[in-house]
Amino acid sequence: MLTLVRRHPIAVALAILVLVTAIGPLPPLVDAATGSPAGDGALVRPLLYVFLAPLSDVLDALTFLSVERAEALLLTWSVVLALWWGLRSRGWRRIAGAVAGPVVVVAFAAATVALPRPVPRLTVSDSSLAVVDYHAHTQASHDGRKGWTASDLAQWHARQGFTGSYVTDHNSIFMGGVPGTFNLLQGVEWSVFDQHVIALGPVQPIDRSEFDHSTAAMLRIFAELHRQGAVGIASLPEYWRNHFDELDQFIGAGVDGFEIVTCAPKALGFPAGARHDVLELAQRHDLLVIGASDNHGWGAVTCVWNVTSPGPKGFRTNHVLARPLALLQDGPAASAGVTQFWFMLRGLSWAERASWLTWILVIAIYLGLPRRRGQRAGVGILARSLSLKTEPPPVQPGGGVVERRRSSAGHTPPAE
Ligand SMILES: [Zn+2]
Repeated sequence: MLTLVRRHPIAVALAILVLVTAIGPLPPLVDAATGSPAGDGALVRPLLYVFLAPLSDVLDALTFLSVERAEALLLTWSVVLALWWGLRSRGWRRIAGAVAGPVVVVAFAAATVALPRPVPRLTVSDSSLAVVDYHAHTQASHDGRKGWTASDLAQWHARQGFTGSYVTDHNSIFMGGVPGTFNLLQGVEWSVFDQHVIALGPVQPIDRSEFDHSTAAMLRIFAELHRQGAVGIASLPEYWRNHFDELDQFIGAGVDGFEIVTCAPKALGFPAGARHDVLELAQRHDLLVIGASDNHGWGAVTCVWNVTSPGPKGFRTNHVLARPLALLQDGPAASAGVTQFWFMLRGLSWAERASWLTWILVIAIYLGLPRRRGQRAGVGILARSLSLKTEPPPVQPGGGVVERRRSSAGHTPPAE
């Protein structure tokens, strides 16, 4: 056992972490209004997602990061890996190792935003319930991903179990007309006087300058939306500071609801206390509360789904089901390099834990395979083992075959 720890300290530590974090697990989904495990929806992780769990889980964890925590995490791991690889090498390899640290971190960040991969989906047992996204973008938004069409957006949603999504480009009304079976619904995100208003339904063009010069003018947009037959939701998480003391005036002006979870990095830092205040206000006035992917074409996964029942709109109409990691982003940013992965491991299912342990074991065995002098650990090991059949092993002058075991760290373990 001690030999195992000495040879594979990282693998053993990681395996222990995977097991220990099962003691205080996080549920796969929580109801953002109550904080308790979600009752009316289940998160289904596809087989390939579970098979690739170490990659799937890390990329999910990197997706659900507030801006402040993302910066801290990227910096922490760039420094840690640069030091780790730099200090363990000699000569020019020391510089290469130090550079490799940030390069690997950037590669993970790029994979987080752009790598196509299997994703979890939400399923509901009651077929009368709809799974809706109220706020998402296409290339028609100035900050939408170039080439990100409404069809791409529909496929992104369908993969994750949504049955419909409003398309809410910035100040640009979605006119529909996209062929396919997925429900893309008409909407727009109006920017008026430091407030983003999600307008849903039969929206019509407005002259934004009429609503853009004061809070009182901005609030008149809700009456205008009602005149059009549309619904107006105040998007709070990203710009929550701008009008937070005036939310009572929003009620008076006829706001239909509030967005309380938004997956955009700038919005994930929305404090739990502020969310609690908004929930109380919405409940008191029987207003909708919603979650939003706010997808702009980047990232493979949503952090939130809405499970909506038919009937009159109100506080109980819509359940906001969120990945717990996304609701834990208002903690200290500096610790994100550690806490994000701690939360991630606590959120693993048993199938994912089994996948993690299998990968740890396979990689540890691979790195621990006996190999001959001059051969480094690496992808070529299979080819080398095959070539043994045709190449006789080198023979020492005394007649002994040159062979020794090397650990992953590169030093020769004592004879056993
Ligand atoms: Zn948006």
